[in-house]
Amino acid sequence: MRKISRRQFIHRSSLLAAGTALAAGCSNSNSNGSGSGSAQHAIVIGSGFAGSVAALRLAQAGVPVTVLERGQHWQSESANVLAGSNGVASGNTNPLPPVQAGSEPPRNTGLLESISGETVSVQCGSCIGGGSLVYGGVLIQPRRETFRRLLPQISYDDMDNIYYPRVLGQIGAAPIPDDVLDSPTYESHRVFIADSERAGFEVLRPNTSFDWDMVRQEIAGDIPPQVSIGNYAINGNIPAKRSTDKNYLREAVQSGKAEVRGLTEVEMIRELPTGYAVVCCRLSAAGEVLERYELQCTHLFLAAGSMNSSKLLLKSQLAGELKGANDRIGRGWGTNGDQLVANLASVPVASPQGGPACIASIDHGDPDYPITSMHSPAPFTAQLQMLMSTPDELGQLGYDPVSDKVQILWSPDGATPSALARRASFQRLLTASGGTEVNLPSFLGKTIWHPLGGTVMGDACDNLGQLYGYRNLYVVDGSLLPGSAGAANPALTVAANAERIMAAVAPRL
Ligand SMILES: Cc1cc2nc3c(=O)[nH]c(=O)nc-3n(C[C@H](O)[C@H](O)[C@H](O)COP(=O)(O)OP(=O)(O)OC[C@H]3O[C@@H](n4cnc5c(N)ncnc54)[C@H](O)[C@@H]3O)c2cc1C
Repeated sequence: MRKISRRQFIHRSSLLAAGTALAAGCSNSNSNGSGSGSAQHAIVIGSGFAGSVAALRLAQAGVPVTVLERGQHWQSESANVLAGSNGVASGNTNPLPPVQAGSEPPRNTGLLESISGETVSVQCGSCIGGGSLVYGGVLIQPRRETFRRLLPQISYDDMDNIYYPRVLGQIGAAPIPDDVLDSPTYESHRVFIADSERAGFEVLRPNTSFDWDMVRQEIAGDIPPQVSIGNYAINGNIPAKRSTDKNYLREAVQSGKAEVRGLTEVEMIRELPTGYAVVCCRLSAAGEVLERYELQCTHLFLAAGSMNSSKLLLKSQLAGELKGANDRIGRGWGTNGDQLVANLASVPVASPQGGPACIASIDHGDPDYPITSMHSPAPFTAQLQMLMSTPDELGQLGYDPVSDKVQILWSPDGATPSALARRASFQRLLTASGGTEVNLPSFLGKTIWHPLGGTVMGDACDNLGQLYGYRNLYVVDGSLLPGSAGAANPALTVAANAERIMAAVAPRL
């Protein structure tokens, strides 16, 4: 490993071999020498849904892989989830070293990144496990017709038969069981089911990544209540939540082929004759830069999420470090056709509302614009729903070298057919339920949690995520979806698409 100063970094200093770099003592990392001297060595940037899938499938294919993640490894305030509290791991088999008890670092490197744009603000995960820690836990599969319209070049049959089940099995996902749904704090879900049925919507119980037995224990009073009183998202590392650090990443590290380096931000990607070099920034938990160094790999997998994979590519192109011709990066970006709405149901619901989000409905009233309403338990007595549609217009991401920030160019879609279909669907629910709309604070109306696109398949890269103009550079995350997951929450499709790509790519390395 060679440290580089900021000045050297700016002046593009020369590279050093990966092997010594990987042996360096990095906080929150588990140096196992992966990559040292190996002919094929992969780097995965980002450890969210897609990065976790890529890490495990590369490791299982025998490819040494280093996962670089800017965030830290969070754990629950009440339990060390990696030391067996949810039954996934036990004893000293913890592959990802926990933060020492009593020395929890300040939250400066955070759990969640917030990116403000003029028309929309985006939130995304910023920790080991990425979005799988902060998310609501809903793993919903888009319907065949909606998926086909969105991604006609991808076989829905393969996704349905192979890749969606593969993700659900690896995570151990399951829908809410009857006894939990019948318990007192789940009243808001029951009211939503009744209202949706009255409106003629199809009611769904999607899979979630929660351990329902732990939720049962909460309800029985055997363990302190957390999920069952609505603390299910953006809440550290929740023991009952099967985030990818507890399954995909754990297994990848246990294979001995993968190393996960937390608090390691990638600042730049550079093309080499034999592969790629990445400039890494080792951070303290408080976000200070401790050192810069470079790693090399033969195969690079971008899994930094829609906002940050696009940013890294645009930044590296602008700096002249990535020279391949590709002017499509940043395009095809969208908000998943999302809109948050709230209503006061005719039957008042009690607070707290039990989590996670686990009941959805689909309004098929307009066959061109099916609207999925995801009931989202909220810390008040109103009913909160995320409406998801297929957007008509997409925006674009850019990169501003002065501020070093990603820019969002996106027009609010208030009057498009998709937006009108959302309004009409919500109105149908209100009419059927006798409820009244509640105005949400404006910042909530402007915030989105499902950014997608930026390197869309068939536009900026091929259907296996290989970026046009580059060899062995794959994007595997939410950037690949064209601004939408097909009127569904995106995490399951992001992960299943990464599974599809890795099933084709990993065995070839
Ligand atoms: C509050 C919230 C609730 C949500 N609820 C749901 C839900 O219930 N269901 C659902 O389907 N979706 C939900 N989502 C969306 C879901 O989390 C994302 O769609 C999903 O995580 C995208 O996966 P990804 O692999 O593309 O990126 P991510 O999971 O975001 O992972 C990207 C990772 O890359 C890391 N990274 C970024 N830049 C760098 C860099 N330069 N160097 C190193 N590492 C970097 C990040 O820290 C992050 O860990 C929610 C999102 C939020 C924020």
